[in-house]
Order: sequence, then C-alpha cells, then structure tokens
Amino acid sequence: MSQLKENLQCVQENIAKAAQKSGRSFEDITLVAVTKTLEVEYIKQAYDLGLRNFGENRVQELQSKFDKLPADIHWHMIGHLQTNKVRSVFDKVCLIHSLDSERLAIEINKRAAKNNIFSNILIEINIAEEDGKNGIFIQNTPTLIEQIQYLSNIRILGLMCVAPFVEKAEQNRIYFEKMRKLFLDIKGKQRHNVDMRFLSMGMSGDYEIAIEEGANIVRIGTVLFGSR
Ligand SMILES: *Cc1c(COP(=O)(O)O)cnc(C)c1O
Repeated sequence: MSQLKENLQCVQENIAKAAQKSGRSFEDITLVAVTKTLEVEYIKQAYDLGLRNFGENRVQELQSKFDKLPADIHWHMIGHLQTNKVRSVFDKVCLIHSLDSERLAIEINKRAAKNNIFSNILIEINIAEEDGKNGIFIQNTPTLIEQIQYLSNIRILGLMCVAPFVEKAEQNRIYFEKMRKLFLDIKGKQRHNVDMRFLSMGMSGDYEIAIEEGANIVRIGTVLFGSR
C-alpha cells in the first residue's frame, strides 16, 4: 500500500471517530486535501484514491493546476485573495473560504454577475485575534454581513478560520467552540442571503478537535502528503 493511501485511510478513520463523537458520521464531513506546493502528478495520485476536493492558497498555482487536472475536481480557494486576482479564480472554484472585506465581496460579486454565476463564499474569522493573521474579528462579523448580504451573485455559506499554531491541539478547542457559537448565532438570525451550512476549520494538527466542535469541512495537507 502506498504511503499516501495509508495516510488517507488513517485520516478518514480519525474523521469518522471524531464525527461520531459529535453525533454525526463520516459522510457529514468534507475533507479538503490541501495541495499547495505539490506537483500535479502527486495530486493525481490523490485523485485516483478517490479524493475530489482540493484546496490551494495561491491564485497562480490554482490556475496552473486547474488546467492540468481532471475537470470533476472541486477546487477550494483557502488562502488570502487579493481583489486584483479575483478574475483568475472566481469561476474555477466551488468555494472561496477567505472572504474578509466588503471590497473583496464587491469584486467577486461583479465578476460572478457578469458571468451569470453565483460565487459561494465563507467569511474568514481571525478567531484568536492574532497579529498578521487574515480574517476579521468576531465583533466585526455582523457589520460585514450587513455590507455584503444584498450582493446578488454571492452566497454566504458559512465561516472559516485558521486556528493558532499550538503545541497541543486541545489548546485550540476554545477557539473552535467560539467559531461554532458564532456560526449558530448567525444561523439563528436568518439573514437574507446567508445560509450557514459550512464551518471550515481544522488542519493537520487539530482536525479531530475541530470536528468534535462542529467543523464540517477540514483542510488537511501535511498528514496526508507529508511535510512541504
Ligand atoms: C496550508 C493550509 C492548510 C493545511 O495545513 P496542514 O497543516 O498542512 O494540514 C489548511 N488551511 C489553510 C488556509 C492553509 O493555508
């Protein structure tokens, strides 16, 4: 068995266990395989093992891989997105995880409208209020939603965060818990054009805790593919 296949089985088992702990099942969780810096040949191996959701954090890289890999892949933009790069990716990805400003939302909406499509987005939260980290603070979330919820060609489908880099995954539980609370809070308000479906949190070091706390999308690179 290849190392990748072994890693994937291990991750899938862990996902299933963590899902069960939170009253859900493996099928409720989407595994986004983070393929940044990987060669397309290696990504193809992951595709051949059945993976279909792939995440990239740079526009150029995503663009070049998009053309070389099968068309039934669901690409996720997980990295910071600059407004001047929107036009290169908005029609290639199924979900933009990193919306963090009104300006970016307006640009995505403009491109989507021109092309008669809807762009699905998650709002990125800087959950631990870390310096230099992307995303907005919890307290600014209602304002951003008010600013963007009437843009007709974007759909606000959930929240995303990159939790702090910690020694023990358990240390991030409080942040994942905060994310779930925010998620449920927004969901409860039933706002126009806001459909809280996806909670994207958890990476190689902490995905099990994230799932236990309610994540339904995890973004995993290192424990699948090895360190970059
Ligand atoms: C790189 C990256 C990941 C995956 O990180 P690993 O620790 O390798 O699993 C997840 N989310 C984002 C936004 C990333 O940039």
